[in-house]
Amino acid sequence: MRFSFVSFAVAASAAVCLCASAQDYPAANKTITFVLPYAAGGPTDKAARDLAQSMSKVMGGHSIVIDNAAGASGSIGANKVAKANADGYTLLFTHIAQATLPSFFRNLPYNVEKDFEYLGLVSENPMNLIGRPNLPANTMAELISWAQSNKGKINISNAGPGSASHLCGMLFQSTLKVDMTSVPYKGTAPAMTDLIGGQVDLMCDQTTTTIPQIEGKKVKSFAVTTPTRLSSPALKDMPTMQEAGLKDFTVTIWQGLYAPKGTPAPVLKKLNDALKLAVKDPEFIRKQDAGGASVINDARNDPAGHKAFVLSEVTKWAPIIKSAGVYAD
Ligand code: ASP
Repeated sequence: MRFSFVSFAVAASAAVCLCASAQDYPAANKTITFVLPYAAGGPTDKAARDLAQSMSKVMGGHSIVIDNAAGASGSIGANKVAKANADGYTLLFTHIAQATLPSFFRNLPYNVEKDFEYLGLVSENPMNLIGRPNLPANTMAELISWAQSNKGKINISNAGPGSASHLCGMLFQSTLKVDMTSVPYKGTAPAMTDLIGGQVDLMCDQTTTTIPQIEGKKVKSFAVTTPTRLSSPALKDMPTMQEAGLKDFTVTIWQGLYAPKGTPAPVLKKLNDALKLAVKDPEFIRKQDAGGASVINDARNDPAGHKAFVLSEVTKWAPIIKSAGVYAD
C-alpha cells in the first residue's frame, strides 16, 4: 500500500515536471542539437547550419549546434535521434534518405513512420552531374559516348545506398544502361575531395555543393536533374538530363527536421513555429537561393503535411529501389 502511494507520488511529480519543462522549453542553459547524418561541409550539412542559424535567431538567440553523426548512408544519425530523449534537445535534420533508406536496408534499426515526430520540411534541392577535372569529356553528349565506350571501368561516388547521390547515380546508370562501380563515402564533402583529386570519375549531388566547385573550375559539370534549366549563373547553360536524351530523369532532394517520437506537444509546437518563421527569414531564403535550392513554403512546413509527403515518397521510391535490386544490411 505504502509502495503504491510512493509510486503515485513519483508519477504525479514526474507529470508536473514534464509539463513544466515543456512550458519552459527551451531552457536557457540547454543547447539544442541538430543531428546531421552526413559529413560536415556537404549540402545537407549546409542546409542544417543555415536553418539552425535562422531558427536560433527566431528563438531569441538560443544555441543550436550541429552533431555530424555520419555513416551507413545516414542511418547512424537517424537512429541516434530515434533513440534519443524525447525532450526537444536532440533533433534530426535529414533529406530524402528518410524515405529511401527503409527500402534500401534489410534491417533498418528504426521505423520512419513510428519513431519520429515530423517538424516540417524546409528546402528542396536539384542535383547536378559532375565529373573529375581531367575527365576526357566536356559536354553531356561526349560524356555519354565516353561512358558507353568505357563500360566496367567507370566509378561514381555517393554517400551510401539510399543517399541522394546514390539515387541520382543509380538512375543515371539505369537510364544510360551502363553499370558503374559505386564508391561510398560518409557524405558529399569527402566524396568531393576525391572527385577533385581524380580518384573517382563522377558524382551526382546537390547543387549547393557543386556550384562553388564549378565556379572554382575544380570539377566539370554535365547536366542538372530538374525538368527545366536552372537560373543560377554557374548552371544556366547546363542541359537538363531530359534535354540530354535521358527520358523521365528528374530528381529533387528535400530536407526537413524531426524529433524523437513522444516529444511533448508544446515543445513540438514551439519548434514548428520557429521553423515556419525561419523559412521566411530573408537570410535563409538568400542562402538557399545562392546554392540553387528553393525554400519550401507550403503545407509541408507543418507536421501533418511533412509526414504525409514523406510517406508518399516512401511509396514512390520503393518499387524503383526494389527493381534496382540494391540492398544494404
Ligand atoms: N549529398 C549527400 C547525399 O548524397 C549527403 C551530404 O549532404 O553530404 O545524400
